[in-house]
Formats: sequence, structure tokens, C-alpha cells
Amino acid sequence: MRMGKLGRPDKRDEAWRAERRNVILASVVATEHGAFVANIVAWFFIAIAAFAMPNADAFVLPVIGRLIALCLNTAAFRHLAKSLHDERAKRLALHLLSGALALGGASWAFQIAPLIHEPTLHPAVIVVGGGSFVAVSLVLSMVGSLKTQSFAFLTGFLATLAVALMHSPTSIGLQTGTGLAGMCAAIVFYAKSASRQRWNAAEMLIQNRRLGERLQSSLDRAEYLSKHDPLTGLYNRRALFETNLIDPEDSRRKYALLVDLDHFKQLNDQFGHVTGDRVLVGVAETFRAILHRLPGKGHFAVRLGGEEFAIVLSVGSEEQARVLAERIRFMVALVAGRIGLQGAKTTASIGLTHFDQGERIDDVFSRADAAMYRAKSSGRNQVRAHAA
Ligand code: GH3
Ligand code: MG
Ligand code: MG
Repeated sequence: MRMGKLGRPDKRDEAWRAERRNVILASVVATEHGAFVANIVAWFFIAIAAFAMPNADAFVLPVIGRLIALCLNTAAFRHLAKSLHDERAKRLALHLLSGALALGGASWAFQIAPLIHEPTLHPAVIVVGGGSFVAVSLVLSMVGSLKTQSFAFLTGFLATLAVALMHSPTSIGLQTGTGLAGMCAAIVFYAKSASRQRWNAAEMLIQNRRLGERLQSSLDRAEYLSKHDPLTGLYNRRALFETNLIDPEDSRRKYALLVDLDHFKQLNDQFGHVTGDRVLVGVAETFRAILHRLPGKGHFAVRLGGEEFAIVLSVGSEEQARVLAERIRFMVALVAGRIGLQGAKTTASIGLTHFDQGERIDDVFSRADAAMYRAKSSGRNQVRAHAA
């Protein structure tokens, strides 16, 4: 792994490089896909021009060879496009593509060869020769960012061109030789700069994608923090009052509990604030465990503030809500023992009320609050329901 400054792994590590490779591959495949019709049209017009040459016979095999190579290249690219999401299949598809491109490069040189063998000033020379060189530079600039594949294509092209030159009955002369070499060098330089651009575009895309992901996760985190209590992880007052946690699609009658821990100030004074916090966390865990086991959705707990909690229940009847409220009261009283607090009481007074869809949440909780105060004044550690 490459190391960045201060010995930290470079952020452009293997994952980055793998992603860049995939982006480049996808972009090359997409370019090729769009170039298919252009390839066929180019082949057709070059073939017509070749057969208009005085040495038309010499072009028959090269033109057929070009068509075969064109089909093989297209098939290899389509196969690669399908294999992009499977690492093993992709590796094989890339090998096949290298082979097809080597043949493709050879087929272009094979098509140029008869021009060298029979140098004439026929106008079709411009179409066949010029068209072939333009096509070679386009292919090379398309696959330039794939090292092995562009090397295969270039080797196929140059090796075949060299063989054709060696077997030429007439010497091509210094001028033509220099011209050909210059043209090949220009193609390579052009392809290099085009592939650098594709490379830069891929880098930028990945950078933007990663920035987008980081931004999204920061937004998710900010939204979570704005709706949750940091100590207990329960929903907070804002979530209950501002974002309406109650599902508007759920038409079942709901019940609200207001749970206030008894003599919590005393517990804090006696055992310390940190222990008080542990009790609050233990109470929240108790709520979560009870609500988690309830059938259906629409039950949730909220820390309203301090040692005051709200619980919303979606259950069939007031009787069921009352049984649940009693269970909550009973379980909260066990929190002290569960967290190993000797000689402390963690009881709660609970106010219960029902409410219907569309009722203002403030009105519901002021009723539950009144019921909870009745539980306090009747001796604490009990459930009181608001009279309907
Ligand atoms: P009552 O039975 O009448 O409800 O008495 P109480 O002592 O529970 O009620 P009171 O409102 O007098 O005191 C609530 C206490 O809760 C006071 C405050 O120190 C404590 N408290 C509020 N928030 C936190 C917190 O986040 N952590 C801890 N440890 N204590 C808190
Ligand atoms: Mg209290
Ligand atoms: Mg209170």
C-alpha cells in the first residue's frame, strides 16, 4: 500500500485505485458502445474506396479481415460490459479484449499495407490511408487508459505494419518512412493526452462521489443528533413535537404515558450525577426492551428532559395500555438492582391517557402530566389514568 505523509495510508489506496479502474472501464465501454455504428459506417466507406483503387484485388482480404476484427472487438467489449461487476469474469474479459484489440490493430495495418505495396496517387488513397490512421488514433485514445489493452492494440498495429514494410517489393524511401514514423508517434501522443483526460475525469468523479458520501453521512448524523437524546439514545423532545413521530397512516388509537422518576434529585445527591446518568440509561434500556417485544409498530419512547420520559403505545384497548404501564413501572423499579445500586430506589410515577389521530400532542401530554401528578400525590411508584 502506498503511504502518504506522516506514514498514514495514502487515501488513494487500493480501494481508490480499484474504483478508478472500474470508472475508467465503464467509461471506455460506454464510449465503444456509442462508436459501434460509426465503426460500421467507416468500414463501409473505406471498403468502397479500397475497391475503387487500381489494385482493388489486394484489398479483398484486408477489408474482410477488418470486418471480422470489428465484430470480434465489438463482441469483446460487450462481454466486458457484462462482466464489470464480477472481478473474475472481468479479468478474463480483459484478456479476451487484449487479444481482440491486438487483432484489431493488425487488421488496420493489414488494410494500409496494399497502399505501401502499390503507391499510387489515386484519390481513394486519402480515404483508405487517412481514414485508417484516424481510426487507429481514435481506438488508441479510447483504450489508452487501459495499459495492457492499448499496448496489445499498438503492438498488433506496428508489428503488422513492420512486416508489411519488410515484404514490400519496392523500398518505401526515407521520406515515406519518416512520414509513417511521425504519424505513428503523433497517434501515440494524441492517445496519451486523451487517456490522461479520461484518467483525470475518473479521479474527479471518485473525489466527488466520496465527498457526496461524506456529506450524506454528515447530514444523516446531524439529523440523528437533532432527533435523539445523546445520553440514552431515545428520541428527544424535538423529535416528538417538531417532526411528528406518529405515523399518520396508522389509524389505531394511541395511548401516551408520562413517566417521571421518583425522588431522582435525592438519588443524584446520594450517589452522584454519574450514577444518576447510569440509572437514566438503564431506564431507557428497559423501555426499549419492553417496546421491542410488543407486536406491531408505532410504539416509541422519548426522553422529554431530565428524568422525565414519554411513551407512545399503539395497542387495542385502554386495558392493554394499563397492563403495559404497570409492567413498565415494575421493570423501572428493578433498574437499581440491575445496575448494582445497593440501597437505592428507582421507582417512577406514570400518567396514562388515550389520544386520537390529529389531536395536538401538547394537549395529550398535559392530560398525561395531570395524571402523573396524581400518581405523585397519591404516594408515587404508581400508574394513574386520566379520566376520559
Ligand atoms: P419527584 O419525585 O417529585 O419527581 O422528585 P424529583 O427529585 O425526581 O424531581 P425534581 O424535578 O425535583 O428533580 C429532578 C432531578 O433530575 C434534578 C436534576 O438534578 C436531575 N437531573 C436532570 N437531568 C439529569 C441528567 O441528565 N442526569 C442526572 N444524573 N440527573 C439529572
Ligand atoms: Mg422526578
Ligand atoms: Mg420531573
